[in-house]
Amino acid sequence: MYVNVAFPLKMPLLTYELPSGAPSDMTGRIVRAPLIGRSIAGLVVNTCNEPEVTLKKNIKAVQNIYKRVMSSSAIAFHQWLADYYLSPVGNALRSGFFDEIAAHVIRGPEDGQIERASIEGSVPSSFSPVANNPALEAICESMRLNGYRSFLYHAGSSVDEKSLLTATLTYLRGSLSNAVILVPEIAQLESILPALLGLFGERVCVLHSKLGRKETAATIRRIMSGASDIIVGTRSAVLAPLRKVSFIAVLSEHSRSYKAEEGLRYNGRDVAVMRGFYEKATVLLSSICPSVESVYNTAIGKYVMLNQMAGTEQGQVRPKIKIVPLKTGGTSLFLAPEIIKEAGNLTARGKRFLFLVSNKGYSFLRCEECGFVERCRTCDVPLIYYKNEDALKCRYCGVMQGVSESCANCSGVEIKAYGAGIDRVKEQVGVLLKAEALVIEKGRTALTAYTERSAELAPLVVGTGYAKGLAYKRDGEEKPFGAAAFLNMDALLLRPDFRLYERAIQEIMAVAQMVSNEGTLFLQTKLTQNKVLRFIRSYDFSGFYRYELSQRKEFNNPPYSRLILFTLPVRNEPGKLLIEVQRVAAGLDTSNVEVFGPVELPYHSKKYHFCIQVLMKSKERTALHDEAKSLLRKLGKLKVAKIIVDVDPLDV
Ligand SMILES: [Zn+2]
Ligand SMILES: [Zn+2]
Repeated sequence: MYVNVAFPLKMPLLTYELPSGAPSDMTGRIVRAPLIGRSIAGLVVNTCNEPEVTLKKNIKAVQNIYKRVMSSSAIAFHQWLADYYLSPVGNALRSGFFDEIAAHVIRGPEDGQIERASIEGSVPSSFSPVANNPALEAICESMRLNGYRSFLYHAGSSVDEKSLLTATLTYLRGSLSNAVILVPEIAQLESILPALLGLFGERVCVLHSKLGRKETAATIRRIMSGASDIIVGTRSAVLAPLRKVSFIAVLSEHSRSYKAEEGLRYNGRDVAVMRGFYEKATVLLSSICPSVESVYNTAIGKYVMLNQMAGTEQGQVRPKIKIVPLKTGGTSLFLAPEIIKEAGNLTARGKRFLFLVSNKGYSFLRCEECGFVERCRTCDVPLIYYKNEDALKCRYCGVMQGVSESCANCSGVEIKAYGAGIDRVKEQVGVLLKAEALVIEKGRTALTAYTERSAELAPLVVGTGYAKGLAYKRDGEEKPFGAAAFLNMDALLLRPDFRLYERAIQEIMAVAQMVSNEGTLFLQTKLTQNKVLRFIRSYDFSGFYRYELSQRKEFNNPPYSRLILFTLPVRNEPGKLLIEVQRVAAGLDTSNVEVFGPVELPYHSKKYHFCIQVLMKSKERTALHDEAKSLLRKLGKLKVAKIIVDVDPLDV
């Protein structure tokens, strides 16, 4: 008998011979086998009586056989994961904690001393009985049936979103085992962990990418030994080695944080649904503004929609959203007088006001005569002016240079600040309101207990998107701000991305979570007639999804088609390689698949400065995957440092 073994490496399955007396149930067992002169742990994916003819020579024997760690449905799930994301099974196993699993099985269980979560448990008090809650009733009914089903819940607020989850868990408390709860960011764990610990105590464990190696190993040991079966964490927790999964919840299912941007580039939300499918589990996706893909999946019957979210007119209390036109010209080019006036009024009444800004630094510098803006030579993006340092800095590579007296393009001397970053907004707020604003920015202000405290008290806060992290911790309490102003709405509305409107509405809905229900969220824009702003202003979700789906359909964009993006990073300008990739791409079968590129683009990393990209698009998944595999094989024969395959990319 022979076994096909996956090693946690980027390589295909290898065939080994079994020693006599080996157990008959080999599939899903850990084995040790010789590989390039070493003995390495791998997973038996399947068995066969005869190896492929081509392989018959040089087949080595398995050295050690350990216990079974994966059911056949778990193996099928990992094979899907690898196949869908165009990667060897071993690579999928590695993302799924295979090294820790193998170490646990081979060394045997050690004393899994894991640091107890420092947060105290508390049983949720807001418990609504199942009879009055149709959403809860539907989820519990599905759990009773023990089959696969995915639900989508469109929550009215992030507090609503968490109360459906805690109500479900409270109701199922006595019978629930083997559950996974996903949140997009580590910071959000704190808002649900006390309720989980209150309900399930020691059975709860936390899994995320910021755990150290020892902590991860200890957590995997707890899961493998059965001590923990309620797993809460970020993206990677979806791959936790539970023997069986019965329930998976994905909070803020629309979040981009679920997409892995290195290694196996999976989307944790999509993987949750497929794991649920393979393991016959109930999957609950929820969001205050669900992804267009998920809404589409409810329309075609793949997911069950639990509720229909109504606009403001139908009773849901939410902060008012007001569009503030930003006039070109006038005294303040980046801060509408109406917003300043409102901030002054509110703070005078003891309320707090938040300015949200997209850009760091002070501004860009532009030549008044020719419009020239200095750009980074490596990254080809405009350099940002930092007033305190009196220097220009690249936001990607961090290169700094002095400010020249005259324009490098026309030698003009009228060089002026253009646009506004966080520092310029703070300066202007200080001048106009005669008050010091607190700045919250990633990198500059780590959210230490001290800054968190002052951020809770400061009447005026100027922040980047990072400031939103503050709101997560305040969930369920009074909302932190009386009003907020989103200053760079136009940056959200002018991105070259087919998902730009979806991202814009999701971003604004997240910001609205920080403003008290009686308050106002101001959106400052020059594009007052923009269609999506009308949907946002009235919380018209059904209008938005209808419009957006019609646009996606018209331009054949996801969810009406599927995309795979190939990126080949290179150190220097690609030149000859680009021609070779062109030749390879020209040889693809384009009867069912559209191929865009190759194109040469700047690439923002320390090692690589350029990249070549090829985008594939098709309505048919199988045709797309077949052509993508063929392209991958051919690209592999060229001399390239690295090939990044991104299935269902979020940034195109
Ligand atoms: Zn100039
Ligand atoms: Zn740069």
